[in-house]
Amino acid sequence: GIKIEDLHLSFGPTEVLKGVNLDIQPGEFFAFLGPSGSGKSTLLRSIAGFGPQPRGRIMIGDRDVVGLDPWRRNVGMVFQSYALWPHMSVRDNVAFGLRERRLPASTIGPKVMEGLELVGLAHLADRMPNQLSGGQQQRVALARTVVTEPTVLLLDEPLSNLDASLRVQMRRELLRLQRKLGLTTIFVTHDQEEANTTSDRMAVLDGGVIQQIGSPQELYDRPANLFVARFLGTAN
Ligand code: ATP
Ligand code: MG
Repeated sequence: GIKIEDLHLSFGPTEVLKGVNLDIQPGEFFAFLGPSGSGKSTLLRSIAGFGPQPRGRIMIGDRDVVGLDPWRRNVGMVFQSYALWPHMSVRDNVAFGLRERRLPASTIGPKVMEGLELVGLAHLADRMPNQLSGGQQQRVALARTVVTEPTVLLLDEPLSNLDASLRVQMRRELLRLQRKLGLTTIFVTHDQEEANTTSDRMAVLDGGVIQQIGSPQELYDRPANLFVARFLGTAN
């Protein structure tokens, strides 16, 4: 799991995370909602080890990863712009992270195909990214992350470039994959329905402070404050 204690992060004089506490269970699918600028991406990036170093603790398993290099954290992150390498085939895109880890070629090949099979794209291994649809590119981005066998999967609005029907299809696939691999997952989304239908629990962030944590049901039935009620649209 992931345990975050009193996490603070500033850009210059501006404090963006103001004491975040979070305890996510192993294998949990945890969603983050909150207005634009509330600090969602900053939080994910600090868990992954990108950007300025926060104050506080980020425990992944039993290790405090604050100050550790990103590639030592066993974290996989998928961004909103899933930017595949345009000059590399699907196969090479998925292999990239494994080559960086200096795995022998004899294990990379099978791992890449296994990853592509997980997302249903083994038959497109030799295509170039510009010969794929948006949803297929998104799946490749997911496969590329999953083959590195992260213990934690961080997803920053990974479906936001997709049209509505594809989003629904992809979120089902994402959930299936997450359950199958038992990945501890944090999923940032602007889409409340997406958070409700996927997550075990969710949090609402505002101004760098978590306003409430609970199951989707709990947040809708018993919003902790007016902000949460308004944000989720349950205030009258
Ligand atoms: P969105 O929903 O729009 O993606 P967010 O919740 O992900 O928003 P963040 O990207 O985490 O928000 O940004 C939180 C705050 O930190 C914003 O006010 C933003 O302007 C500021 N910020 C983010 N990155 C930097 C940076 N590199 N330098 C200075 N300020 C930054
Ligand atoms: Mg963001």
